[in-house]
Amino acid sequence: MKRVLVIGAGPAGLAAGVKLLERARGEVSVKIVHMGHHIGGKAASYKDAKERLIEHGWHMFVGFYEKLPALIARAGASRAKAVMSMQGKTHVYEPARGQIFTLDSAGGRIATAWNFVKYEGLKVEDRAHYARFMAQVFERLLGGEELEQHDDVCFTRWAIENGLLPHLTRTSLFRVFRDGYFNFPEQVSAYHTLKTMRYMSTSEGAETFAAVAPYSERVWDPIARYFESLGGVIEPYTMVRGFAYDGRRVTNLAVARPDPVGHASGDTPWKTSELPTEDGSARTIADFDAVISTIPQAVFLTLNAGDTRMWRSPYFARMKNLRSAATLSMTVRTKRPCVPFVGPVFGFPAPIGIATNMTRYLERYRVGGEEGQEIQLVGQESGFESWTDEQIVSFTLDNFARVPSCDLRAAEITYLELHRNRSDFERIFLCEPGVQKFRPGPLTPFANFFLAGDWVRNEVDLVCMEGAVASGYEAAEHVLTRLGALGG
Ligand SMILES: Cc1cc2nc3c(=O)[nH]c(=O)nc-3n(C[C@H](O)[C@H](O)[C@H](O)COP(=O)(O)OP(=O)(O)OC[C@H]3O[C@@H](n4cnc5c(N)ncnc54)[C@H](O)[C@@H]3O)c2cc1C
Repeated sequence: MKRVLVIGAGPAGLAAGVKLLERARGEVSVKIVHMGHHIGGKAASYKDAKERLIEHGWHMFVGFYEKLPALIARAGASRAKAVMSMQGKTHVYEPARGQIFTLDSAGGRIATAWNFVKYEGLKVEDRAHYARFMAQVFERLLGGEELEQHDDVCFTRWAIENGLLPHLTRTSLFRVFRDGYFNFPEQVSAYHTLKTMRYMSTSEGAETFAAVAPYSERVWDPIARYFESLGGVIEPYTMVRGFAYDGRRVTNLAVARPDPVGHASGDTPWKTSELPTEDGSARTIADFDAVISTIPQAVFLTLNAGDTRMWRSPYFARMKNLRSAATLSMTVRTKRPCVPFVGPVFGFPAPIGIATNMTRYLERYRVGGEEGQEIQLVGQESGFESWTDEQIVSFTLDNFARVPSCDLRAAEITYLELHRNRSDFERIFLCEPGVQKFRPGPLTPFANFFLAGDWVRNEVDLVCMEGAVASGYEAAEHVLTRLGALGG
């Protein structure tokens, strides 16, 4: 039996673990170690001991996802029991008008153009221009244009160079392209935006879904149980802090147990930066033939930080050009329903720009008869680091109150939770212009060490749950080939 160690129990680590055992059960043994902040990594959401919702932010499931729904199905769960369609609606807050407008998200060249013609947040002549622009973009995308060539340029500039009137790039409607990647306040690479648009170029691909219950319960926990049913082992509270190597092989991993006290008390997950460096739980793991690391980009840079030889190698040195951002997530429940929208609302002023009324999707309300409503909001912290939690909350609620019929305070807030996802392991990878040339592939200079995760190049190549799963699969295939352990 060849022994494979997977670091991380997020979408990439779980996918890698499952794939290894599905393909080569009996020939490989697989252990997943992770820090213990719940199965599902950044896509986890669950209730803690105090019934608080712990998550890294609202997650949208998109119609073009194939690998993730198939994995859910193989785990004995189903997409239908995890998520619900948002009925082809996206909404945009236009601050100049103080109103929220609806954009249908049906895909396809004609449908997309028509969606923009109908969008009432712009003047009629601007809508027609926008619609023509979008129709041209879709024609190029469906014509198979090679998109990687556009990576160095930001999508805003690409749009202007390709005919969109500059003033339209300053609208909230345009900001949706950037904010969807958490690249606010900065710019997103045209490669990433155009690639997403290509995936969303059919109505099925463009359909968006919201979770009906915490993701961990409906998606990640079933996948973890499936992995264990295949013989896999999951070991929590194991934080990798560095690795040793000999020639071209990684020989052992230095690990420690992260702050179990904070976790047991039901407080928010540990902050890597607050861990003591020598805490008595330090040990090494050496019983593996191959390792797949799904450690997020910001954490990876902290491994072997003092090893100048390793970090000078071109494979690793390139990663230093990559960045990840801290996100904000907020949940607000009110006694009475007030927000009427059925899909996500983009375009609120930073730092919290995206809000979704989850009431019609969450089973607690839909089936369980719970009263009131729940709004889940996400944003990015950059530029607002010095704001207190209270400032962020009241600014966000004030923005809501400006929209007719959306005053959350007036609907009586019964629960409010704000998370500042600042730790390295919580940060989201930024799809900035020019990142493609710095993103690593799965094969490292070490013969037995492989990378996966949403920031590692892969077939899907988008920073999302589907991309992470695709990346986990690819790393697993490489490991099996390298170990000569491919099952029948
Ligand atoms: C606010 C927010 C909103 C998002 N919205 C969406 C969305 O709408 N749709 C979508 O598809 N995606 C969304 N994403 C992206 C999605 O969450 C990620 O792409 C996905 O979780 C990446 O999976 P991963 O396995 O690569 O990494 P992660 O999910 O980060 O998992 C990494 C794993 O590694 C472990 N780990 C980290 N450091 C160490 C260490 N030193 N030692 C041991 N283990 C370690 C962690 O415990 C975790 O188990 C969002 C992300 C955020 C933050």
